[in-house]
Amino acid sequence: AKAEGRNRFHYFNEGLQAVAIRRILVESELREAIQKKSFIPYYQPKIDAKTGLLYGAEALVRWGHPTQGMVGPAYFLDIAEQTGLIIDIDRIVIQKACAQHAQWLADHTFDYPIKMAMNISVRHFKDDSFLPMLTELLEKYEIQPSSIELEIVESELVQDTDTAIAVLDELAKMGIDVAIDDFGTGYSSLSYLKQFNVQVLKIDRSFLFDIPESEISSRLFKGMLNLSQSLELPNVVEGVETQAHVEKCLEYNAEILQGYYFAKPLTAQEFANYIPTKFNK
Ligand code: C2E
Ligand code: CA
Ligand code: CA
Ligand code: CA
Repeated sequence: AKAEGRNRFHYFNEGLQAVAIRRILVESELREAIQKKSFIPYYQPKIDAKTGLLYGAEALVRWGHPTQGMVGPAYFLDIAEQTGLIIDIDRIVIQKACAQHAQWLADHTFDYPIKMAMNISVRHFKDDSFLPMLTELLEKYEIQPSSIELEIVESELVQDTDTAIAVLDELAKMGIDVAIDDFGTGYSSLSYLKQFNVQVLKIDRSFLFDIPESEISSRLFKGMLNLSQSLELPNVVEGVETQAHVEKCLEYNAEILQGYYFAKPLTAQEFANYIPTKFNK
C-alpha cells in the first residue's frame, strides 16, 4: 500500500510537471506572438432570422502559430487567461477587427452596415486603460459605437458584480452594446440581470444541441427565448447546426442565428464573399 501510494504520488507529480512545462512553453510562445501580433480574427456570420439577411460578424481569435498552423482558442485561452496575456491578445484582436470593420464600411462591402461583435475577457474591466483604449479605437477608425458589440461570458461576468455593474454602465453611456455570452450556463440566479446594463442575451449552444431528440431541451430552449423576450433583450442563438435547429429557432421567435448551418468562422476575405445560407420560413 505504501509503494502504491508512492507510485501514485510520483504519477501525480509527473502529470503536474507536464502541465507546468506545457504552460511555460505556451506562455513564452504567446509572449513572442504578442510581439509579432500573430493573432488574427476570423469572422462568423450572424443571420437575421426574420429576413434571412446578414446581420453581423463575430470576431473569433486564431493564432498563426509558427509550427502548428492556425490554432484556435482551445489551445491557448486557458494559459492566456491565467497569465493575464489575454489582455494583450484581446487588444490585438479588437484592433484588427475594428480596422476590418472600418474597411468594409468604407468599401461598401455589404449593402448596409453590419454589426461587429468581439469577445473580451472580463479581466479588462479591472484595467483602467480599457475604456480609453476603446474610445481611441473608435475615433481612430471612425466607427459608430452602436455598430460594435462586446461579448462577455456570463460565468466571468458574475465573479465581481460591483466592477461589472460600473463598467457596463460606462459602456452603455458610450453607446456600446454588450452581450452576455454562453447565457444560461453561468449563474444560478437571474436577479443580476436587473442590475447589469446589457443589451443582448446570447443563448448558449448547449440548449440547442440535442434538439430535436430531447423534448426537455426544446422546452428549456423555448424558456430561454421567452426569458429574453420578457426582459425585452434581443437574443442571439449560437450553435445553429441543422435544419431542425433553424426550425425550432423560427418556431420560438429567435432573432439572430449563428452556427455551422450558416458558416464556420471565416477569413476576412471569405466573410466578404459570404452569401447567407437560405432557409425556409
Ligand atoms: P464563444 O464566444 O462561445 O464562441 C463560439 C465558439 O463555438 C467558437 O469556437 C465557434 O467557432 C464555435 N462554433 C460556432 N458555431 C458553432 C456550431 O454551430 N457548433 C459548434 N459546435 N460550435 C460552433 P472558438 O472560435 O474555438 O472559440 C472558443 C471560445 O473562445 C469562444 O466561445 C470565446 O469564449 C473564446 N474566444 C474566441 N475568440 C476570443 C477573443 O478574441 N478573446 C477572448 N477573450 N475570447 C475569445
Ligand atoms: Ca462569443
Ligand atoms: Ca458562446
Ligand atoms: Ca463559449
